[in-house]
Amino acid sequence: MPTQLLPRKPVASADREWRCRRCDKLLGLVLADRLHLRFARQHEYHAALPASCTCRSCGALNELNHTTPPRAA
Ligand SMILES: [Zn+2]
Repeated sequence: MPTQLLPRKPVASADREWRCRRCDKLLGLVLADRLHLRFARQHEYHAALPASCTCRSCGALNELNHTTPPRAA
């Protein structure tokens, strides 16, 4: 019986995390040209870019547009 590795969960290459530039808190997910935001109590939003917000943890202003490079891992 051949040994088979479990396939890795597929991750869409266009998806990436939007994190606070100061404290690294997750702010949302970038889905192609859309921003997916999720808040407490099941509130979810899809927003078009560009977007900006203040971090709920440290208060830093974060801006995101189509040319914002992903954070280095
Ligand atoms: Zn922050």
